Amino acid sequence: MIGAALAAAAERLDGVADDPRREARMLMAAALGVPLPALGAVSPDDPVPDNFEGLVERRAGGEPMAYVLGERGFWTIDLKVGPGVLIPRPDSETLIEAAVEHFEGGADPDRILDLGTGPGTLLLAALDQFPRARGLGIDASEVALEYARDNAARLGLADRAAFRKGDWAEGVTGSFDLILCNPPYVALADELGPGVREHEPHEALFAGEEGLDDYRRIIPQIGPLLAPEGVALLEIGHTQAEAVRALVEASGTKAFMKKDLAGRPRLIGFTG
Ligand code: GLN
Repeated sequence: MIGAALAAAAERLDGVADDPRREARMLMAAALGVPLPALGAVSPDDPVPDNFEGLVERRAGGEPMAYVLGERGFWTIDLKVGPGVLIPRPDSETLIEAAVEHFEGGADPDRILDLGTGPGTLLLAALDQFPRARGLGIDASEVALEYARDNAARLGLADRAAFRKGDWAEGVTGSFDLILCNPPYVALADELGPGVREHEPHEALFAGEEGLDDYRRIIPQIGPLLAPEGVALLEIGHTQAEAVRALVEASGTKAFMKKDLAGRPRLIGFTG
């Protein structure tokens, strides 16, 4: 019965979940295939759906909630995610905020490029934000591209979003008003949140000894693709602002830094 199963699941998730009772309810709603508020109409004596225990076991084993539920909210959209693709993080919303700030009072961007798009995170959020824009998302992972295309279709954005397998901006041509990039930037020895190192794709997280290897490749590729009034926004680890700024400025462009709401440096940007 659902009442007893929820109580047992909350106990099972103690120590893994931040809020075991809430996560147990979210997993029950997912197992029933209904939104969370619909649990209000369920009776504690109703039968437990077959897949509930499986979801609880996955979460109890430390798998991130987003993978177990199969989706994660980001900015104004919900994205399908699963093992093999980086889970969208609230930190990356700082890039969309910075894009909104940049284009405020002027014309919205027409062309957007997202390097390392994962499940389409930054590109699809930006397309939802800027309804006239079209965009290209690049990723090296086939799994990520499959999620990205599926997300674009489900969100009704497929006619404005193209996705392509690629090695950063290698071979990309044209001129973009907004270039977004959340590359891997974790240093090998860095500490990560619970479940991240064990479950999320390492190729989306780690970038060599200091976490700078991918920035070194990406930054010189971006300048030639940036439109005159355009802006490039790169997510950074909070200790990397000066190093990434130096990489941008070495290519002859002035860089700016933006902090997230926690007051930590979160992006380096530069204009065309
Ligand atoms: N901010 C992420 C984390 O610490 C890393 C994301 C990334 O490398 N792009 O889990």
